[in-house]
Amino acid sequence: MTHNYENLDLSKTYDYNELPDKKAGRCDNCNNSHFKSTVSEGKFLRECSKCGMKKQI
Ligand SMILES: [Zn+2]
Repeated sequence: MTHNYENLDLSKTYDYNELPDKKAGRCDNCNNSHFKSTVSEGKFLRECSKCGMKKQI
């Protein structure tokens, strides 16, 4: 299975199961490694501190 890491929609929250990290611990959009993390409803939400891309882990 291949994943499309281009044209990511930053208004959307991605799911790790559907879009695994291209590089572990790095933002798929900008390759930044610093994230803001929040937990909501038992799920871990990781938001890139640079571009704002959100992914549920
Ligand atoms: Zn980013």
